[in-house]
Amino acid sequence: MFQDQTFVIVGASLTGAKAAEELREKDFEGRIVLIGAESERPYERPPLSKDYLRGEKEEKPFVHDEGFYDEHDIELRTGVEVTAIDPLGSKITLGNGDTIEFERLLIATGAEPRKLDLPGADLDGVIYLRSIEDSDALGAKFGDGVKVVVVGAGWIGSEVAASAREKGCEVTMIAPESAPLERVLGPELGKVYRDIHEDHGVRFLAGTGVTEFAGSGSVEAVITDANERIEADLVVVGAGVLPRTALAEAARIPTDNGILTGPSLETEAPGIFAAGDVANAYHPFYGERVRVEHWANARRQGAAAARSMLGEPVVFDEIPYFFSDQYDVGMEYTGYAPESDRIVYRGDVDKREFIAFWLKDGRVVAGMNVNVWDVADPIRDLIRSKAEVDPDRLADPGVSLDSLKG
Ligand SMILES: Cc1cc2nc3c(=O)[nH]c(=O)nc-3n(C[C@H](O)[C@H](O)[C@H](O)COP(=O)(O)OP(=O)(O)OC[C@H]3O[C@@H](n4cnc5c(N)ncnc54)[C@H](O)[C@@H]3O)c2cc1C
Repeated sequence: MFQDQTFVIVGASLTGAKAAEELREKDFEGRIVLIGAESERPYERPPLSKDYLRGEKEEKPFVHDEGFYDEHDIELRTGVEVTAIDPLGSKITLGNGDTIEFERLLIATGAEPRKLDLPGADLDGVIYLRSIEDSDALGAKFGDGVKVVVVGAGWIGSEVAASAREKGCEVTMIAPESAPLERVLGPELGKVYRDIHEDHGVRFLAGTGVTEFAGSGSVEAVITDANERIEADLVVVGAGVLPRTALAEAARIPTDNGILTGPSLETEAPGIFAAGDVANAYHPFYGERVRVEHWANARRQGAAAARSMLGEPVVFDEIPYFFSDQYDVGMEYTGYAPESDRIVYRGDVDKREFIAFWLKDGRVVAGMNVNVWDVADPIRDLIRSKAEVDPDRLADPGVSLDSLKG
């Protein structure tokens, strides 16, 4: 099938690697070129703030073993940047000036950390975590009594704080919110995570901004907007990520908080697709565009984009899912809840073994299971059913989630 065609994938990380794999799974016999700016072959990022960061796993978390790309006749080009896309000429340009013509193109350029524009932000020891090199550099500095200041209390900041504490560092978290993860989970569940961090000895400075990083050469302190000086050997900034859309923008492929795609993951430029962290895809279940910055989405959308490139009638409507591990607290979150009007708990919040359900108009729109396992699929099915639920039955661990689907 498509023997004489060339499919190019820009971005050799999880989304790109899964797309290449799926193309071969689906018996695509043409040429696949997978191009990545990083020097490593595709790897998974979640361990970079968890066990790999703590030095508990020496093996790099590669998506595929070394021989996979050759065995599947996938031309993997690492350490190579794509500098331009020409949608009308159906070709891309590489950093060395070479061009490659394509029949189909997948843009899987992911996201990059949002940088802080503050005095001292360029000092050594002010670190952003995205790549395996970042994780190696950060992990090498962890140790007993090392003073780590984490700026930002989203997923990356929270996981880094937990890993740093587990390695004996003194950790201060600074965030404008009242609790970690508040933007996604809201203040009530954020408080649960704040307690978890404080129980493990993290100092959490809520409602606080940073005005400056102080030091000469290397960072020595963080100055807050309350004019407090917090000594720091190391600062980790977790201020969210921005989709890498520059290539698409230069090619006049429409973007708005990511590259815009329809449910098939095709962009407005025919034959050019986008998936993973960079894609802001129309989601039929939600009736709006959703950009998801999570591992499961990268895997699923990469594979779905590949099928779409092959002409299959793809409608990507997977319910978002992500996971996080902090200390001995593991969680999975299923759903998408920009708005909700009630939270219902099942289980024991104090023991940190529970499920929290976010409801909107009596229907479950998201669920988070904390140290409770094998319930993410039933939660997803409940969300998808859009059934009105009785809150008392939802809270009752004796009632199966499946029975609430109506
Ligand atoms: C430290 C960390 C921990 C995480 N933990 C979790 C977790 O616990 N749970 C969860 O659900 N998600 C987690 N995530 C998020 C998850 O890793 C991302 O959603 C996923 O990596 C997205 O994959 P992607 O392939 O779309 O993009 P990326 O992983 O960002 O990869 C994009 C790739 O494209 C390359 N590229 C960009 N531009 C070009 C160009 N012009 N030419 C060539 N190559 C280019 C980049 O170098 C990069 O390698 C974590 C992320 C990080 C950083």
